[in-house]
Amino acid sequence: MSEFDFDLFVIGAGSGGVRAARIAAGYGARVGICESSRVGGTCVIRGCVPKKLLSYAAHFHEEFEDAAGYGWNVGETSFNWSRLIENKDREIDRLNKVYLSLLKNSGVRLFSEHGKMMSQHEVQVGEEVFTADKILIATGARPWVPDIPGVEHSITSDEAFHLEALPESVVVIGGGFIACEFAGIFNGLGSKVVQLYRGEQILRGFDHDVQNTLATEMQKKGIDVRLHINVIELIKQPDGLITLKLDDGSELQADTVMFATGRVPNVRGLGLQDAGVHALPGGMIPVNEFSQTNLQNVFAVGDVTNRVNLTPVALMEGHAFADSEFGGNPRPVNHRFIPSAVFSHPPVATVGFSEKEAEVHYGKLDVYRSVFTPMKHTLSGRQEKTMMKLLVQASSNKVVGLHVVGMDAPEIVQGFAVAIKCGLTKQQFDQTIGIHPTAAEELVTMRVPVGA
Ligand code: NDP
Repeated sequence: MSEFDFDLFVIGAGSGGVRAARIAAGYGARVGICESSRVGGTCVIRGCVPKKLLSYAAHFHEEFEDAAGYGWNVGETSFNWSRLIENKDREIDRLNKVYLSLLKNSGVRLFSEHGKMMSQHEVQVGEEVFTADKILIATGARPWVPDIPGVEHSITSDEAFHLEALPESVVVIGGGFIACEFAGIFNGLGSKVVQLYRGEQILRGFDHDVQNTLATEMQKKGIDVRLHINVIELIKQPDGLITLKLDDGSELQADTVMFATGRVPNVRGLGLQDAGVHALPGGMIPVNEFSQTNLQNVFAVGDVTNRVNLTPVALMEGHAFADSEFGGNPRPVNHRFIPSAVFSHPPVATVGFSEKEAEVHYGKLDVYRSVFTPMKHTLSGRQEKTMMKLLVQASSNKVVGLHVVGMDAPEIVQGFAVAIKCGLTKQQFDQTIGIHPTAAEELVTMRVPVGA
C-alpha cells in the first residue's frame, strides 16, 4: 500500500488536467482532482466552445445577404441575443456534464474546491490536506488588462459571453486571437465595432500576408481597425456610455469596451513558492519536455506553463504526461508544426513558419501565393477574397509554412497540417490531385512561385 493518499493529484479540471487525470486513472492510478470553478476549464466554459458558437451566429448575417444571388428571398431578419446566450449556456451545461461523467466513469475523485500546494507532496483542498506521490498543476490562465484609470468599466472575453444585451457599439482593444475573433462576432451580430491595436498590424507574429489580408477583409466588413494607438483612460458617462481617451489626443465613445490584451497564468494562491515550485516572473511555470517542473514529482501542463497556449496542446501534454508517468510509455510532446486558427471573419488558419521566420530557419525560400474570389461569391457578389500561401525551402523542396485566410480555412488547414508535420515536399503536393471545385485544391495546384 502506498504511503500517499493519491498516486496523482491534479490541480485544475480544464482540458489538460481532465485528460491527464482520466488517462492516469485508466492505467490504474488513484487520482484526485480539484477545481474551484466549473469542470471543463477555459475552452469549454469561457473560451473556444462558446466563442465558436457565437462566431457561427455572427456568420448568418452574411449568409442571409449572400442567399439573394442564389435566388432566395430571405425576407426580414432579426436577431435575439438572449436566445443565443440561453442556447449557448445550455450547450455549455451539457458539455460540463459530459466532463463530469468522464471523470466519474474513470474513477477520478473530484473535489469542487480551490487547491493549494502545502509542500512537494501535499495539497490542501478546502479543509482537507491530501498527500500525493505526484502532483500536476493544470490551472490555466485568465485575461490580463492594463492598469489604466477607469479600466473597471471595461469587460474581457469572460464577461462578453454573459452580456445582458448585444451592445450597439463596442471598442475592442488588442490585435491578437481574442480581439480579432470578438471584433468579428460583434460586427457580424450587428454592433458597430472599432478595434484598436498598439502595433504595426494586427496578428503580430503571423505571416505578413495573413496579417494584411485579414485586416483588409475585416475593414471591408465594416470593422474600424485602427493601428498605432493606445487607450489611456476610460470615463463612464452619466448616460452609461464610456468615453475612451486615446494617446493621439482623440476620443471615442462606446457602450462596451473589451480588453483582449493577453492572458496570465493562474498561479495566485497555489502555494508554489512554499512548495518550492519555480515560476517565471509573469507566473508561467517552466517545464521540461516531459512537463516536469524543477521538482521531480511535480508537473505542469497547459496555459500555466511557458509553452504554446492552445487547448489541443494542453490535451496532448496531459495525455503524454499520463502515458509517461503511469503508462510505462515515456514520451515527450513535440511542439513543432502546431496548426492553429483564428476564428475571425473571415477565419485564418496556419501551420508552420511565417515567411520572415522561415527565411531565418531555412534560408532561401520559394514562395507561392494565390489570392482569389471563392466560387460561392461569384453569385453572391460578396467582395471577399481568399488568400493561400505556401513557403517552400528551396534547397530541400520541403513545405515549411502554409497559410490560409478565407472561408473554411481551419477545416482546410487541419488536413494539410498532417502533410507539413510529415515533412512533405512541394513535389508531393504537386503530385496530389485536387478535389474540384474546392478552394483547398489551390494548395496542390500552385505552380509558379512569386517573382519567378
Ligand atoms: P494575444 O497574445 O494573442 O494578443 C494580445 C494582444 O493584446 C496583442 O495584440 C498585444 O499586442 C495586445 N496587448 C498586450 N498588452 C497590451 C497593452 N498593455 N496595451 C495594448 N495592447 C496590448 O492574446 P489573446 O488574449 O488574444 O489570447 C491569448 C492566447 O490564447 C493566444 O495567444 C492563443 O494562444 C490563445 N487563444 C487561441 C485561440 C484559438 O486557437 N482560436 C482563441 C483565443 C485565444 P502586441 O502584439 O503588440 O503584443
